[in-house]
Amino acid sequence: MVQTTLEHAARTGYEHPARDLGRGGSMRTNWPPNTVTLTPGKRVLFLTKDLNLIKQQLYDGLDLRMEDLTVDDLLDDINTDVMTPAWVCFDHEPAEIAKNAYAGLMHNGLRVFNENALQNGNIEVIVSGQRKGTGSSRETAAQCERWAGINIVIAASFAPIHERNNINLGQLMGDHAMLERLQNGESIPLSEFTGRYDPVTSLILEQGGLFPFAKALKAGALELPPLDTPSRPMTMAEHIIARNLVGQPEGQCVKPHDPVIAEVQGGYSHEFTTAQVHTFLQEEYGADYTLPNPPKFAVFEDHLLYAHHNPKFVPFMHKVQTLRDLQVAFQQHSGVRDYSAVDGVSPGICHQVAREEFIEIGDFIQATDSHTCMGGASNALTWGVGATEYANLVSAGFTFVKVPESIRFELVGELHHGCTAKDVILAILADHARKELTLNRSMEFGGQGLASLSVDERATLCNMATECSGRTGICEADDDLVRWMMAAQPHLDEDSLRARMVAPDEGAHYDGGVHVIDLSSIVPMVAHPGNPDEGVPSDPTNGAHISDIGEVSVNIAYGGSCTAGKEDDIAYYAEVCMAAKAAGLKVKDGVEFYIQYGSGVVKDFAVKNGWHALFEEVGVHLIDPGCGACIGAGPGVSITPDQVTVSAINRNFQGRSGPGKLYLASPLTVAASAFTGHITSWRPDLFA
Ligand code: SF4
Repeated sequence: MVQTTLEHAARTGYEHPARDLGRGGSMRTNWPPNTVTLTPGKRVLFLTKDLNLIKQQLYDGLDLRMEDLTVDDLLDDINTDVMTPAWVCFDHEPAEIAKNAYAGLMHNGLRVFNENALQNGNIEVIVSGQRKGTGSSRETAAQCERWAGINIVIAASFAPIHERNNINLGQLMGDHAMLERLQNGESIPLSEFTGRYDPVTSLILEQGGLFPFAKALKAGALELPPLDTPSRPMTMAEHIIARNLVGQPEGQCVKPHDPVIAEVQGGYSHEFTTAQVHTFLQEEYGADYTLPNPPKFAVFEDHLLYAHHNPKFVPFMHKVQTLRDLQVAFQQHSGVRDYSAVDGVSPGICHQVAREEFIEIGDFIQATDSHTCMGGASNALTWGVGATEYANLVSAGFTFVKVPESIRFELVGELHHGCTAKDVILAILADHARKELTLNRSMEFGGQGLASLSVDERATLCNMATECSGRTGICEADDDLVRWMMAAQPHLDEDSLRARMVAPDEGAHYDGGVHVIDLSSIVPMVAHPGNPDEGVPSDPTNGAHISDIGEVSVNIAYGGSCTAGKEDDIAYYAEVCMAAKAAGLKVKDGVEFYIQYGSGVVKDFAVKNGWHALFEEVGVHLIDPGCGACIGAGPGVSITPDQVTVSAINRNFQGRSGPGKLYLASPLTVAASAFTGHITSWRPDLFA
């Protein structure tokens, strides 16, 4: 039986932190109340498809009522990039971020929300349509609303990570019928806002967010509900969560949607997110806070290393420097592992280096980036979290988890030469993800077909689980993985590694079903850029067979990023470049071909094999490890809307890597296209 905080507080005299101090208290007091009403004098902002109506509400004092509108009148799919574009995230103080809330919402080339518009609107409720908060997992999107004074967020549905970020910040979320009642003067019990969640999430909301919840838990002011899940066959994700349960008996099983507290074995943040983590920890626990297990956590300087290459980012370089400085301050204060750039060269992209250096088989890892799921190739459970959640888990050593549902991909057969794991995941995106079968689920990969893929290729599958809107990806373990792990981290003990392997139980339940994919049926794929002007967004689920897209000329070929800068990706680029060299070819005139290494280890591998020199010989631009063009901040971005890029990165969202059109494709396709000048699938006799 779950006790409400208020009942328990009455018994213990425990004082609700959100009502007293910390970030919650500094922004709002007495939140959330036991009954929710609209505050006299405060306003409701409707994010309407008619952008002029938004302007009238912001600047002309227009007040709308829900009964005047339909849900169809409201903006759907507001993505987190629109709420806080990358340049807004160069600020780390939420109050500063709030000044530029919704800076990415444009009308006729101009911002709908001018600076401070949301804050100055005296608004406490914000209203939109379907799927609020799609896109990247950035917590800044939820922060920009909260620190602009919004307490209640109304939408028909929320993207799962954005919803979780709102919960962690103590934002109440409701639907349009609830808003209508509030606007009619009704008081709505808090339990109506919290009741649709599991008991632990309800407690987090009742407390005013994750930090007050964790403090109350540590103070013994909260009792977690006991788990009553009986012994049952479990998926790989369930196994790893079950073995990390806090406060539950040994051998306790879990099932999807169980709300639990679980230990984490490690995590990491990067310079885009660390400053917030440091600031939040200082605010919550004081300037002399300490972390219990710093060697299992890390900071990386990878995302903004080449930010100065983007003219749009140049005016913000002083803020980027502040982010870097605060990351250094956090690392020195806390003693976490340091993967800072040295002489302007990064050790590598966080997800690649983490799997090379410290993710171990069977670990539960959380980090502040949506592609953390890449670590699933190591038979580990890994996913991305917001800065608040990360700050909380890095200080507590445990985190709140709602056990995800699973979907299984049983791989059989073998890929044809010319196809790669990227083609497999693009096919899954176009089919299963488009049908939302992967939504918020752990994507479990297994079968004899998986064993035919290298460990790096498995990492490509897991990396793009986030593009599938999955919770994570996780691969079965085998001898190849153990060999790879022992080569990457020779200090590990092989027997211990094997003992920590997880496999699904016979009879494990998959809410998303079991899907057999015959690798021999996979053909070279792209995800096309759609036609945003006609309402077809550029999206990784826009799958197409290369044989069906006709001749598509390219200006840029880009090979790199966490998903395509691994050793085996470099080997793919090298295979094509060797054949091109043998045929006397160089990169096609009019095409720029970039390869960016995923880590220093990968670069050394290329140098050792003579491929670094080969790439230079055939006309490739080589870039040291880092994120770069993938995030619109490095060599290889498009400059004009008419440029066409074929890229091995994982996302083709409009504008992410420049204003041009971006086709996602495999490393082999990217390299082959660089020499032909148009999107071309690879075959060994292509240049014969
Ligand atoms: S390479 Fe791209 S997708 Fe990967 S972590 Fe960096 S910015 Fe994110």
